[in-house]
Amino acid sequence: MAIKILLNEDEIPRQWYNIAADMPNPMQPPLHPGTGQPVGPADLAPVFPMNLIEQEVSQERWIDIPEPVLDVYTIWRPTPLYRAVKLEQYLNCPVKIYYKNEGVSPPGSHKPNTAIAQAYYNKVFGTKRISTETGAGQWGSALSFACNQFGLEAKVYMVRISYEQKPYRRLMMNTWGATCIPSPSTETEAGRKILSQDPNSPGSLGIAISEAVEDAVTSEAAGRPPTKYSLGSVLNHVLLHQTVIGLEAQKQLAKVGDYPDIVVGCAGGGSNFAGCAFPFVRDKIAGKQIQIIAVEPTSCPTMTRGPFAYDFGDTVQMTPLLPMHTLGHDFVPAPIHAGGLRYHGMAPLVSQLIMDKLIEPRAVQQLETFEAGVTWARTEGFISAPETCHALAVVVQEAKKAKEEGKQKTILVNWSGHGIVDLGAYDAFFQGKLSDHEFPQSEIERALKAIESFPKPKL
Ligand SMILES: *Cc1c(COP(=O)(O)O)cnc(C)c1O
Repeated sequence: MAIKILLNEDEIPRQWYNIAADMPNPMQPPLHPGTGQPVGPADLAPVFPMNLIEQEVSQERWIDIPEPVLDVYTIWRPTPLYRAVKLEQYLNCPVKIYYKNEGVSPPGSHKPNTAIAQAYYNKVFGTKRISTETGAGQWGSALSFACNQFGLEAKVYMVRISYEQKPYRRLMMNTWGATCIPSPSTETEAGRKILSQDPNSPGSLGIAISEAVEDAVTSEAAGRPPTKYSLGSVLNHVLLHQTVIGLEAQKQLAKVGDYPDIVVGCAGGGSNFAGCAFPFVRDKIAGKQIQIIAVEPTSCPTMTRGPFAYDFGDTVQMTPLLPMHTLGHDFVPAPIHAGGLRYHGMAPLVSQLIMDKLIEPRAVQQLETFEAGVTWARTEGFISAPETCHALAVVVQEAKKAKEEGKQKTILVNWSGHGIVDLGAYDAFFQGKLSDHEFPQSEIERALKAIESFPKPKL
């Protein structure tokens, strides 16, 4: 029989956990690129609503989850915690494996945990319309669902190549009532500029961010309804909202009297990993022996190879300088199938905790991730998102290591989303069209050059 550990609705956490309150070394402030001075709440006000900016800089350990957010969470939360019994039997290693299934949300990933919160705070603030960017469409679809729940308009700038090649998430956005257009578009200055240089531009996340931010800050003058911009990862408030995952997992493990030796998650901007891991990082700071692993692709090795430095969050240098692991804002990652892990930076909170040796980064090769994903589907049944497969590859690695060491271990992995809309990637894998990637040292030298003139974080 399958083992799944369920909570009742009244056991959904009533507060999010803010790790800023417990960090051994405080995070360094974002800097204004022009002045080199810390960015204050007022600097962010044209882009984000003030209630979310307050969360971004909050030092309070616990932040109440508003009742209307909890109401929408109950559509799919609490999410089940499974014991991966069939995978354990298949691997035949001395491990217990638990996974938190965040794929049961309507858009199919962890992303609505923050999309719902962001839509709610915008609604309360008086925002009528939210602009954002999306790569493969996971974030765009989550935000479209959230805006629909709270009666807001959503405008999504989707990287053109994905818009054309991956219609399904765009159609999810349309179904939830959002407008999704290919980026670069003719609707913004940034988009028109790119198109005038290259009418066939395939687009990039960096360009789409510029368009979405420009949309928000020019809306008032253009006579559009009051608009704010929204980001699906990286920022402190986004990671905060995701901590419902780890807080629920702790309650579920307590019900079966268990506690993990290892916590694993994949990290693109860092939000699903942090959401599951931060409540356990808190225990680790308090003295628990626990290994906490953030997994990335070898083709975009931000945490394992990139320096910890101040850099822009976007390609066109519109954001503040963030203290983070980075491959340089001008980095163009290989077109691997885990679109959500192709980001040049990493959440500053996750980056700082890596520097503090509380989190261990690890990079895995693409083929190994799909092998793990196929093994998972043929044991546990669920088809994993290509991003999630990165975490699963490390679960397999750690299970084998436990056998070699002759130690009994308990592993918790965050299953960040399903791969039903990503079956094209599995097809490419089955047809032998995918490959591994080596990351040349010359790319690190380019990254160092890109950030050379910026202020350096103090360590
Ligand atoms: C977007 C996404 C990721 C990567 O984003 P993070 O902010 O690092 O969590 C991972 N898994 C899935 C299923 C995603 O949709």
